[in-house]
Amino acid sequence: MLRAEANGLANITFVFLDRDGVINRKPPAGQYVTCWQEFELLPGVEEAIATLNRSGRKAIVLTNQRGVALGLYSLEELAGMHERLAEKLAAHGAHLDAIYACPHDAGQCNCRKPLTGLFEQAFRDFPAAQAGNSVMVGDSLRDIEAGRRLGMRTVLVDDAGAAPASDEVQLARSLAQLTVASLAEFVHRHICPERLP
Ligand SMILES: [Mg+2]
Ligand SMILES: [Zn+2]
Repeated sequence: MLRAEANGLANITFVFLDRDGVINRKPPAGQYVTCWQEFELLPGVEEAIATLNRSGRKAIVLTNQRGVALGLYSLEELAGMHERLAEKLAAHGAHLDAIYACPHDAGQCNCRKPLTGLFEQAFRDFPAAQAGNSVMVGDSLRDIEAGRRLGMRTVLVDDAGAAPASDEVQLARSLAQLTVASLAEFVHRHICPERLP
C-alpha cells in the first residue's frame, strides 16, 4: 500500500498491458508469434492477472500485431490464439477484460503504437477509463511513448538479464516512471503490494 502510494499508483483502475514481452515471451527481433504453439506465457503472469482481477482493476491488452499485415497469420488465427490464452488464464481464475490488436503495417493506420488508436478504442468501450486512473505496461519504447502521449503513467517491463539493452530500451527506461523485471513484479510489488506475504 505504501509503495503504491509512493509511486502514485494507488488510484490506478485500468491496467493497459502490451502482449509480447509482458504476457508472453517476446519472439526474437523480426519474428512473430504465429500460432498457439509459439505462445509461451511468462512466469507468474496468470497469478498477476488474477490478482489484478480480484483487486477490481481492469486488465486490458493493447497489442501491435503487424504479422497479420505481413500475412504470417490471419485475424481469425489471432483470435484463436487469444481464445486459448483466455482458457489458460481461466484455469488460474484470471481473465483479460479486453484485447485490442492493431493488425496493420507501419504507417498505415492510427492504431499501431506509439499511435494511440487502440487506447481510444478502449476508452470508448470503458468510459470510466482516463489518463489519470490508467497505466500502460509495456516492454518497448513504443508502449511507453503511446502512454506518454495520452498523459498516463508508464511502466517498462525490462528483463535486464535477457540481453544488453538497446538504445531504444535505454530511452524507454529513462522515459518510463517505473522499470520492473516482470508483470508479476509490477502487480505484486507496486499495484497490489498488500498481497505480499
Ligand atoms: Mg512488446
Ligand atoms: Zn493499426
